[in-house]
Amino acid sequence: MSLIVQKFGGTSVANAECINAVADMVAKTHRQGDATVVVLSAMSGETNRLLALAREVNEQAPAREIDMLVSTGEQVTIALLAMALDERGISARSYTGGQVNILTDNIHGKARILEIDSARINKDLGAKRVVVVAGFQGIDREGDITTLGRGGSDITAVALAAALKADECRIYTDVDGVYTADPRIVPEAQRLEIITFEEMLELSSLGAKVLQTRSVEFAGKYRVPLRVLSTFKEGPGTLISYEEPVMEQPLISGIAGQTDDAKLTIRGIPDKPGIAHTVLAAIADTQINVDMIIQNVGADGTTDLTFTLSRHDLPQARAELDRLAAELGASEVIGDEHVAKISVVGVGMRSHSGVASTMFKSLAAEGINIQMISTSEIKISVVVEDKYLELAIRTLHKAFGLGDTMCSEDSTTDQE
Ligand code: ASP
Ligand code: MG
Repeated sequence: MSLIVQKFGGTSVANAECINAVADMVAKTHRQGDATVVVLSAMSGETNRLLALAREVNEQAPAREIDMLVSTGEQVTIALLAMALDERGISARSYTGGQVNILTDNIHGKARILEIDSARINKDLGAKRVVVVAGFQGIDREGDITTLGRGGSDITAVALAAALKADECRIYTDVDGVYTADPRIVPEAQRLEIITFEEMLELSSLGAKVLQTRSVEFAGKYRVPLRVLSTFKEGPGTLISYEEPVMEQPLISGIAGQTDDAKLTIRGIPDKPGIAHTVLAAIADTQINVDMIIQNVGADGTTDLTFTLSRHDLPQARAELDRLAAELGASEVIGDEHVAKISVVGVGMRSHSGVASTMFKSLAAEGINIQMISTSEIKISVVVEDKYLELAIRTLHKAFGLGDTMCSEDSTTDQE
């Protein structure tokens, strides 16, 4: 007998019909003899609807009350699923996060799970019940309801799988796995049978939307066996693995792109020790995270510093830099919202050279100018003008041969 955690996202529980379909799938797992824990999201659109409602009565509603409100979305779906399972002759119980002691810190809206007491769940599983847990929510030491951040049901599922030492955590969603690129942008994109945990972490933090980034981090910490599958289409999905691949790895596993960033440049700052610190510390003090950073080689005793940050933070960071520029005697501050970050990710990069040159060459061939570059052991990211997002992804997908059916030999040519 295995213990399986199954998580269904908002589109999978969007209405009664969907919930009946999910009940059929859960019933199947349960009848195969597996101990079954289900984690659900709210019906799709529900969390947004509740947040909009809150804004109608208070633009700055207290975070505690927002959590009280939005946590109800998941309470609806878990109860309905438990009822649908009962209708199928399966005994099931639904629980809020607090009822199964998902203890979190008290940072409302982005709480972190501290501890899960699995006793109650184990007792139900022992009695052959299906346990249905509300995703996205927990409880703090004061007994107040907390939520884990948007998309947080993935975290609940992974955390429960870790606490219960589940054999597999299955995340059911509206796509049937992790793809080499977003299939809406690249129709030839391929589903990956398997992806390493490190690659998955990079891809989700670089814009792939399948899994919530913090849930991937969590899975890595406890080495939770994780699989992404479709609710609507049968298939093996994509397995996230912790083993280094033994077989020859494709050079690149996936391409991600995002337009959530902006670029900020401060020009003509006096080039002396401590200048990067002064600028970036001023930004950090406003609790804004920066991502890529470039400092140019100084000339005439001055230098330029450019960094990317979340687009949402641009106005505040810009105001801060304007203030600083006046103080330091810098010549100007330039903000740019029209940027996209495109990243190629693959553990195969560790043992192969030439990825960067293939990437830069194919972008150049399309006339796409690269504004910034950053690399790590298994990824290369570039910043380009945002109108090139889709073209850049399609171009790179082709250049690295990712649309070719699997098992084809490396179609990239090493340039170095
Ligand atoms: N319902 C929450 C949201 O929309 C959590 C989730 O769906 O994972 O963000
Ligand atoms: Mg989700």
